[in-house]
Amino acid sequence: MRWLKKVTRVFERAESADPRLDLLARPGASCACCGEPLENLFSLAFIAPNVPLTEKDQHNNCAVQTEAGNILTPDFCRFSDDLFVRCVMNLPIRGRPETFLLGCWGSLSKESFQSYRDHFFADGSPPPLPAFSWIANHLPGVEPTMVACEMVFRPELRPELFVLDDTHPLYRIQTDGLSPQTLIGWLENMGHRPTG
Ligand SMILES: [Zn+2]
Repeated sequence: MRWLKKVTRVFERAESADPRLDLLARPGASCACCGEPLENLFSLAFIAPNVPLTEKDQHNNCAVQTEAGNILTPDFCRFSDDLFVRCVMNLPIRGRPETFLLGCWGSLSKESFQSYRDHFFADGSPPPLPAFSWIANHLPGVEPTMVACEMVFRPELRPELFVLDDTHPLYRIQTDGLSPQTLIGWLENMGHRPTG
């Protein structure tokens, strides 16, 4: 097992050589550009699925029951024949106590979409069974973009997505946690500068 120890040591040294990783491990650290404590930045939300909607497609939630054609609301989206709902993913962060809250969109079949919509407007109770979904946003640095998920419906909360494909990088992020490198990449992608 000597080679394993050696590899581990090299990895540890490589990690601590990057000051950005030390910053992430330090409680109370803040972003250099906006001064926000880092833990306040551990969320990212996409306002729409990755489809070419226009500003005129935006409505409030009730419109999903009355409007035909393409539509985007805070919780629902219809684009051509494709149907999406706003979800969340909770991603652990390696070496930190917080989780990263990812607001994203997931596709649904017509039946599952109608069931969720009917429950949403009836009493807010969740549909009883989870549904199959494809995540409909592209996460920076996470390939391939298509990820098969299970959508779990929750009372009073947006549905939660769980990656089904255990060969996909996002599956490992959901089970093992976001690596500091990926997290820094996401924060930089949002315009922050967690590099000190
Ligand atoms: Zn910032």
